[in-house]
Amino acid sequence: IDPTAMVSDACVSYGTINKLNDDLYTLLQSITSETDFFSYYRLNLFNSECPFWSDSSSMCGNIACSVNTIESEEDIPLVWRADELSKLEGPKANHPPRQVQAQRPEKRPLQGELGEDVGESCVVEYDDECDDRDYCVPEDEGSAGKGDYVSLVDNPERFTGYSGPGAHQVWDAIYRENCFVKAAAEDQVLSSPLGGLGAVQAASDFRNVLQKEAQRPDASLDNECLEKRVFHRLISGMHASISTHLCWDYLNQTTGEWHPNLQCFKERLYEHPERISNMYFNYALVSRAVAKLRKHLQNYTFCTSEPEQDIDTKQRVNQLTEILSRPPQIFDEQLMFQDPMAQGLKEDFRTRFRNVSRLMDCVGCDKCRLWGKLQVNGYGTALKVLFEYDETKNGENPPLRRTELVALVNTLGRISHSIAAARSFHEALAAGHDRA
Ligand code: FAD
Repeated sequence: IDPTAMVSDACVSYGTINKLNDDLYTLLQSITSETDFFSYYRLNLFNSECPFWSDSSSMCGNIACSVNTIESEEDIPLVWRADELSKLEGPKANHPPRQVQAQRPEKRPLQGELGEDVGESCVVEYDDECDDRDYCVPEDEGSAGKGDYVSLVDNPERFTGYSGPGAHQVWDAIYRENCFVKAAAEDQVLSSPLGGLGAVQAASDFRNVLQKEAQRPDASLDNECLEKRVFHRLISGMHASISTHLCWDYLNQTTGEWHPNLQCFKERLYEHPERISNMYFNYALVSRAVAKLRKHLQNYTFCTSEPEQDIDTKQRVNQLTEILSRPPQIFDEQLMFQDPMAQGLKEDFRTRFRNVSRLMDCVGCDKCRLWGKLQVNGYGTALKVLFEYDETKNGENPPLRRTELVALVNTLGRISHSIAAARSFHEALAAGHDRA
């Protein structure tokens, strides 16, 4: 990829992102792997059924698909343990009632104050209800027995062997969520004057054509409006990042060794440059969301019960947001949803992204589900921050759950790692190592 070329739909060149990533890479990896706050994640990994289909044959039985959850309370940071959390439950843990959410922001009451020295992140989040401004179905941190703590460091995203019809069914369903206006056109066919079975058949044929179109990875995005292109790029970029990681940390099933697999990268990414481009796009979008939280994070209390570590975490995060806030701004969210017709489009965008989030419960491999859920939550949080969050205001912004913050920063860490790995693969290909 020409470093001077601009990343489509972002305001930045590939070279600028490479340079930014060089500056951030070590810091970001240290935040995600060395701080307790960002290296543990709580989620519903095993207790939610796939809401769209049931097919137990698509479950992955490989050992590499399994996740080591934390069984003993002693292994998680003190303040996150159930006993400690229940002591700290405070007003911020409560979900604003629906009628309050529905009010215009300026009429909503400010959220309750926390006690002195009790930071937002010290409070258990019992809230598994969706805020209307959420782009994801939230992970519930609080309900006893509903979630699992996972060390992200001990369960790295890598090759698992999960593949075949089960995996394809999930990806197909995810890409199908990209059929915005096409779905509306489909509705029109259904309500066409033809009526009856003819209309149903026509709609079914039409749906097949649309599904094929949506799945075509190199389908031209030129005629789509910006918002739909962004939706596609987000999903394709996430898919590309997952593929990069499984190629980077690949298991040679004959020797039992883990190593980068150049052929895997070549087939899945190198021969599809638009997928790599979408990964760069995601880097720009998520970076901008993290930069937008700069002020919020300066006042944030990181809470793991080890004050020295919390100070250190805060310093690292402040350094991260400071670097990301330097000009030029690499993604301009204000270009989206500007058209007066765009309000419906925004709702549609959000609903479809929530469906992608629900589809993660259909992933038949625990490890893939863990990282899939985390990254969809990370992108959903980025969208919430970009489109629902005003960095100049305080009380009216939607609350940011701890799981969302952890997911957001880890998602940036994942794309950052993918971009570094892709460059390394490119160098190996340029040196002819695939022919060696
Ligand atoms: P797939 O990657 O399954 O792709 C299916 C089709 O989608 C392709 O044929 C192509 O037409 C299209 N496509 C592929 N990439 C893109 C792209 N970037 N943009 C647009 N279209 C594209 N496996 C692991 O080993 N480790 C993991 O951590 C892991 N996590 C997963 C997480 C999720 C949410 C899912 C659904 C699957 C995960 N998998 C993981 C499985 C992995 O993604 C592949 O499905 C599997 O390796 C089979 O790959 P494939 O070559 O058949 O194509």
